[in-house]
Amino acid sequence: MRYDLAIVGSGAAAFAAAITARDAGASVVLVERGSIGGTCANTGCVPSKALLAAAAARHDAASSRFPGIVTQAGPVGVAALAAGTGELVAGMRAGKYVDLAADYGWEIIAGTARFAGGADAPVLQVRPGGGAMSVEAGHYLVATGAAPWIPPIPGLEQAGYLTSDTAMELTELPESLLVIGGNATGLELAQLFARLGTRVTIAETLDRLAPYGEPEVSAAIEDVFESEGIGTLTAADVVSVRRDGQARSAVIKTAGEPEREVAYGQVLVAAGRRPVTAGLNLAAAGVETAGRGEVLTDECQRTANPRIWAAGDVTGGPQFVYVAAAQGSAAAANALAGAGRAVDYAALPRVTFTSPAMASAGLTEAELLRTGVACDCRVLPVSAVPRAVVDRDTRGVIKLVAEAGTGRVRGVHAVAGGAGEMITAACYAIQAGMTVTDLAQAWAPYLTVSEGLRLAAQAFGRDVSRLSCCAA
Ligand SMILES: Cc1cc2nc3c(=O)[nH]c(=O)nc-3n(C[C@H](O)[C@H](O)[C@H](O)COP(=O)(O)OP(=O)(O)OC[C@H]3O[C@@H](n4cnc5c(N)ncnc54)[C@H](O)[C@@H]3O)c2cc1C
Repeated sequence: MRYDLAIVGSGAAAFAAAITARDAGASVVLVERGSIGGTCANTGCVPSKALLAAAAARHDAASSRFPGIVTQAGPVGVAALAAGTGELVAGMRAGKYVDLAADYGWEIIAGTARFAGGADAPVLQVRPGGGAMSVEAGHYLVATGAAPWIPPIPGLEQAGYLTSDTAMELTELPESLLVIGGNATGLELAQLFARLGTRVTIAETLDRLAPYGEPEVSAAIEDVFESEGIGTLTAADVVSVRRDGQARSAVIKTAGEPEREVAYGQVLVAAGRRPVTAGLNLAAAGVETAGRGEVLTDECQRTANPRIWAAGDVTGGPQFVYVAAAQGSAAAANALAGAGRAVDYAALPRVTFTSPAMASAGLTEAELLRTGVACDCRVLPVSAVPRAVVDRDTRGVIKLVAEAGTGRVRGVHAVAGGAGEMITAACYAIQAGMTVTDLAQAWAPYLTVSEGLRLAAQAFGRDVSRLSCCAA
């Protein structure tokens, strides 16, 4: 049988593409060599957020913020926690992915796919188990995702290491953990393990945690981690790793200081994820890739071969499940109906699920300045947000990035309890082209974190300490 669309992978990009294609009446086949649902459902978003919620519950029990409320936290049953998370993942995988495929009516082949047949007549060769079969389609979608990148640190392979794929499956807590990498995944996992009781140190090569976002956000999250006893080494290179029995040690060079060797029970590598393209035979199929293996596409997700499309983490873009889904859906609509759809990233939200969470949408101050537009930016301490005050957690900041002159809001960046929820409103404000004045005058319910957006907008030209829900 020849299909309208054949998809390699079964993550968010693949599923969104398959749904769009089936809605248009097209025949679809999907090839997956691992677990249905891909990274987000199996080893990414779902287990990490489930475990972070559990760790937050323990942290709150161990450190009650409220007068008169006495709580305490006992030891963690890691095996039970891992088993419970596994059950949750299996349930969501069945409900959100496996059953969905059956409802929409597309075929899933279990096996590893690679292109054959050359650029003019591409075909997929699939190896399910020991056998081999060919899959032919009018169009193909590469949605093979990304995998942890392991930096070439001497001794690391021999010493052994964890990644986000394996760390969340541990059934025993390491007594101490060195996390290599201080961006989203490293930060989430560092706080997760610290809150479960592990002594954690993060080593980040660049000069601040969350190094690609706003400096104010980095400073705020560094304060949060310090307040929770998480060690932070910035401008720090892990020079080598060594294992002696169960003990591991790392030689770390921090800017301006001599090298030092520190012992750790486990090392977790969270140094970014790189596109999975090895073995796909893309060059023979006329598909171009770049230096990190990312598949090159135009803005409509079409590769250099007009019959082959790519979407999701494999394209090297922002690694979020909703980006993968938006790209996958656009790719299918463009391939099958010539829709000419391009994904709009102007108000793209990003959330790192630490607590308080780091969330942002739109441009940073530096990005706005690079477009040649002057910035009128304001930073509001979360201590000025009444919700945070009554919650007795005033850690964090909210930063508004607005165009000087027009006052148009181009970016919002926050560290705040509930920042992940607040950021959707920021996306809408950016998307709608709202100005700071619009935001300052918009409704925001009192004693919500989202009110922080309105208060931050009101902070333009005012004394922050005198902001009030009654000011309009
Ligand atoms: C720890 C962690 C936490 C995260 N948390 C969040 C979050 O909270 N929110 C968020 O938006 N994003 C989060 N992400 C990112 C998100 O998971 C990814 O952006 C998203 O899953 C990418 O989807 P995808 O469809 O591009 O690829 P994937 O979901 O990775 O799917 C690719 C699939 O292709 C299969 N495959 C690869 N090669 C072949 C082949 N040759 N043949 C057959 N099959 C193949 C793989 O087995 C895999 O199942 C997180 C990621 C991690 C690692």
